[in-house]
Amino acid sequence: MIEDKNEKKTTLSELGEFGLIEHLTANFSIKNKTTILGIGDDAAILDFKDKAVVVSTDLLVEGVHFDLSYMPLKHLGYKAVVVNLSDIYAMNACATQVTVSIAVSNRFGLEALEALYDGIRTAASIYEIDVVGGDTTSSQSGLTISVTAIGEVNASDAVKRSGAKPNDLLVVTGDIGAAYLGFQVLEREKEVFKVNPNNQPDLDAYTYIIERQLKPEARKDIVQLLQDLEVKPTSMIDISDGLSSEIIHLCKQSNVGCDLYEEKIPLDPQVISTCEEFNLDSTTIALSGGEDYELLMTISQEDYPKIKANPNLTVIGYMTDARSGMHLVTRGDEKIPLKAQGWNSLNKD
Ligand code: ADP
Ligand code: MG
Repeated sequence: MIEDKNEKKTTLSELGEFGLIEHLTANFSIKNKTTILGIGDDAAILDFKDKAVVVSTDLLVEGVHFDLSYMPLKHLGYKAVVVNLSDIYAMNACATQVTVSIAVSNRFGLEALEALYDGIRTAASIYEIDVVGGDTTSSQSGLTISVTAIGEVNASDAVKRSGAKPNDLLVVTGDIGAAYLGFQVLEREKEVFKVNPNNQPDLDAYTYIIERQLKPEARKDIVQLLQDLEVKPTSMIDISDGLSSEIIHLCKQSNVGCDLYEEKIPLDPQVISTCEEFNLDSTTIALSGGEDYELLMTISQEDYPKIKANPNLTVIGYMTDARSGMHLVTRGDEKIPLKAQGWNSLNKD
């Protein structure tokens, strides 16, 4: 789990920039018919015919967004792609291409970048997207990765953050809070390792939450599910920063309020047990944890019969008018104003 300082290292300068790009991108095949030309020219060529095109970019900086002491590079490559695809799915769109740009310091050898690209290739294959370009440059310190994801959607099917109406149901996919707790466990093990490098951590009780942190998945399946159920959400967003701040984004951009029910928030049993062990409040973790990459959406009441039996979709509240404000309704039936508190602020506690 900890970076091996003695592993084989071929310096990047031995290959040169072009050799490196050619080497890393050699095994990328094209799967989408919208990709006319991929890697290798000055620019890629895409053709979306009459579809609308959605584009989203994320930037990941070592020491800010990831810590290589417990994040294997293969997982990092995978996660860098997946978190971008999540933004495309949050528009109710189908992800089709990505570009990947990296800045690397001479601390990294070829083998490290091969591992990174192994993860990128795995994500591309699982999510059926094409890697169509990028840029490669050196950096003074550390690793920076920027991924741009591209997708397609019928313009009338795109779902924005701004369409929620009073009385709409607030619906979330999967379960919430696990990725942040996985991060807490990994941070704790990192400190233990610093004191005693021979200590082999026993992480059996945390497999799900650690996987949610190191190998998140984007909800491509939900875009398909909504289509199958013939449900178009009135608004949608992906949960990267924590449930409460995402709810607040939907409310503000839609000009509505919201009642969120504490007892309805879906939690995995491992989240509950780990919260008990760490003496953390599971609702606080769900509200502020972040990095869940689940989808949060609002659905018109008349679509309720279509979604109610589905195990992937949980109704956690409903929208109100803007004047009513944004509230958490607790198990004790108290109403508390929702605060935007992403995992960054949670970290400083
Ligand atoms: P330019 O000098 O025009 O920027 P490059 O030599 O950087 O061209 O890139 C050559 C080709 O390789 C282009 O298709 C580019 O998109 C692709 N490419 C460069 N770096 C990466 C990377 N890190 N990942 C994927 N594709 C890349
Ligand atoms: Mg370039």
